[in-house]
Order: sequence, then structure tokens, then C-alpha cells
Amino acid sequence: MDPAKPPSMASKDEPNRNPNYDPKKPHIADTPLTKKNWYKHVNWLNVFLIIGIPMMGVVAAFWTPLRLPTLIWAIVYYYWTGLGITAGYHRLWAHKSYSARLPLKIFLAAVGGGAVEGSIRWWSRDHRAHHRYTDTNKDPYSVRKGLLYSHIGWMVMKQNPKRIGRTDISDLNEDPVVVWQHKNYLKTVFFMGLIFPTLVAGLGWGDWWGGYIYAGILRIFFVQQATFCVNSLAHWLGDQPFDDRNSPRDHVITALVTLGEGYHNFHHEFPSDYRNAIQWHQYDPTKWCIWLWSKLGLAYDLKQFRSNEIEKGRVQQQQKKLDQKRAKLDWGVPLDQLPVIEWDDYVEQVNQGRGLVAVAGVVHDVSDFIDEHPGGKALIKSGLGKDATAMFNGGVYFHSNAAHNLLSTMRVGVIRGGCEVEIWKRAQRENKDVVYVKDDQGNPIIRAGNQITKVEQPMATASAA
Ligand SMILES: [Zn+2]
Ligand SMILES: [Zn+2]
Repeated sequence: MDPAKPPSMASKDEPNRNPNYDPKKPHIADTPLTKKNWYKHVNWLNVFLIIGIPMMGVVAAFWTPLRLPTLIWAIVYYYWTGLGITAGYHRLWAHKSYSARLPLKIFLAAVGGGAVEGSIRWWSRDHRAHHRYTDTNKDPYSVRKGLLYSHIGWMVMKQNPKRIGRTDISDLNEDPVVVWQHKNYLKTVFFMGLIFPTLVAGLGWGDWWGGYIYAGILRIFFVQQATFCVNSLAHWLGDQPFDDRNSPRDHVITALVTLGEGYHNFHHEFPSDYRNAIQWHQYDPTKWCIWLWSKLGLAYDLKQFRSNEIEKGRVQQQQKKLDQKRAKLDWGVPLDQLPVIEWDDYVEQVNQGRGLVAVAGVVHDVSDFIDEHPGGKALIKSGLGKDATAMFNGGVYFHSNAAHNLLSTMRVGVIRGGCEVEIWKRAQRENKDVVYVKDDQGNPIIRAGNQITKVEQPMATASAA
């Protein structure tokens, strides 16, 4: 034991704290940003890494001629390091959507380090919190705090680490590649981010400086900005075919920018699926590489949700959209909210000049419609004050579903005397559960041909036929 240390501090589990750390003092991120303290809110190391170095690279590029082999190498290395993040950090380690053999793991940990986005361990922990607490305050890059925040703000401004939701990373702590990369992170970043791309261009075709600027610094900038788009653009642009309660979205532009991570609505619904795009024609080079590695024996146990489960999610979301559309339409006053009218009262009101017509026990005010009736005024008038159920359902004319729909918007009451009870009973008998089906908001779902006024068999008592 270190004699200089008091025994109480000697525990191995004790966090390694800064001597100036005061647990009672609020974290800088939890204090308001003012003109005096703004610079304390900034994470200057990240500003230098994410913005400062690329700016220097842009300036240096003015003096550095770009040679073709260096350009090709920079693009190739861009894809490798991008894949290190998408296929390695993201789909292999954060989500365990497949398993990789040791050589592939080492390759992904190395090129992923070359993207300069933190260690696998750190990145995956935050990413798991992002999935678990999407759009909440515990989401490390919640788009609810703004597009710029989700893209880069969460890195250039200091964050209180206690705010980020806790996640289980015990599996990562047991992975020797992850542990090694985390312990040797700085060495990995310098070697794979800058030294290795410089060496390839220098030893390969003598372009040391070009390799350093283009395949090193500027390539880091592009791969960082592209992968940051998964946190920003993929939560902001596109459709939500599986669930619209949270922000993740699907869009081909995001997919093109992020090596196929753009089908993000699908990804948040089925995060352990090794695919992001499930259609063959959608752009997901990360998926194609994983599939290819599995054919080469480098990857195995590729996880995939059954299409039955995927389609269920898609249909449910379509149903939700349909319900919203349906709720905006006028389906007439719901039957249970209509006043109950005596038959004699109904006849009396017609005698006083109201244009009422009863169909299947429901009273409709057709006064304004008489002149427009496609079958002519005389026919509709002949139904006023009567039970026009049979006339309407084929006795005189077999009205269309559209006519039943239109009629329902004119309903003003329900006939008493068994009728209103009758229609409910009949509705139940004829349409079984259909009439009573309601959407999530409690609005009835009236399917084509299922309006209450629709009667399959013309009634025996029909007099008008
Ligand atoms: Zn996301
Ligand atoms: Zn993810």
C-alpha cells in the first residue's frame, strides 16, 4: 500500500477523483451560460479536435497539391474508417447485431480508431444510452435540443456525465479488443488517424505531405461529419414507417452520407438487426460488407428480425396514420349521441314541414338535399315521414356505399320504440364486431358497406317497393 495514502482512500473501487473535485458544486453544464463564463462551458479539446485541426487542414491544402493516387487512397481510407464506425463500433459492439472473428475485430477496432470518434467502449456506452433514452434528457445527443446540438453541440459544449442514462457495458468490458483499444486509445488514434494513412501514401508513391493532409486530417473531418449525421440528420429528415412517437427517420440522403445508416426509424425499432436497409435496392454498404464478411467466414451469427415482425410494425404505423386521416372526416353524429325521437313525434315534425326521413331506425334531415338528390325530388320526398329503410336499400334504388356515407352526415335522431335497440342488435348480428370497432382515439371505424343504414335484406314490411 502506498504509505502516503490514507487507508480510507486505498480501496481499489474508489473512483479516481480529481483532488479539486467537490461533489456539492454543480457541474458547469448545469449552470447558466453567461458572457463571463461561456468559455468554461466549451470543451476546448473537442473544439480543437473536431473544428481546429480540420481548419488547419483546409489551410494546408492550399499549398498541398492533390495527387490522384492520394485522392483514391483518401477515399478508400474514408470508407474503411467509416466502416470501422458503422460496422464495428455501431453494429458489432454497440448492438451486437452479429459476431466477428478476431482478425475482423482487430481490423474494425483499428480503422474505427482512425475515424477519431472516441474509444469503442465510450462510443458504445453513449450509443446504448441514446437508444434507451431516445429524445429524453438522458439521451447524450437528443435532437430535441436542436439539430446542431445533436450533430456537434453535445461534443463541443461540456456535458455533465451524470446526466447521460446508465447502460450495461459488461459485455464490452469482457472483450479484450475493446479493452485494449480503450487503454491504448491515444496511440490508436494517432497511429490509425494520421500516421498510417501518411505511411501508405509516403511509402507507396512518395506523397508524405499529401497523405498526411488529405488521407489523414481532411479525411478525418469528412468521416466525422458523415457519421455525426446519424445523430442529427437521421433524427430530422425523412419518413417514419415503423413508429412516429420518437424522432428517428428513414431517408436515402442520410443513408448515402452515412454508409447506409440512414434507415434510422427501422434501426431504432429493430436495433439488433444487422441491416439498416431491408430492401435490396436501398443503399446500405455496411450491411453488404457484413454479409460479405460472413461469406468469407470472418463474421457469423448475423441477426435479423423476422419479416413478420417487421411488417407488423409497418402495418401498425400505417393504421395509425389512417386513423388520423379518418378522424378528420365527417362521419355524422355518433349514434349514441343522437337524441331519441318517438315515431309519432317524427311523423308530426314531417307534417310541420321538416324534411326528415327514417332509414333503419335513424332519422335524417334531408331538407337541404332534396333539390340535389340524384334520383330526383319526387322519390326522396316520397320517403319523408316514413320508414324508408327498404326504399333506400334496393326497394326503389340500391344506394351506393357513398350514398350511405353521405346520408350518415345528415342524421339527427334515433327512433324509440324498440327501433334504436333493434338497430344496435341488428348491427351486432349482421356485422358482428365490425360496427363496434374503434381506433385508439375511440373513434368508430366504419368500413365500406358497413354504415348502419345499410340493410342486406330488404325488409318484409317495405311498402314503397
Ligand atoms: Zn438514433
Ligand atoms: Zn444504433
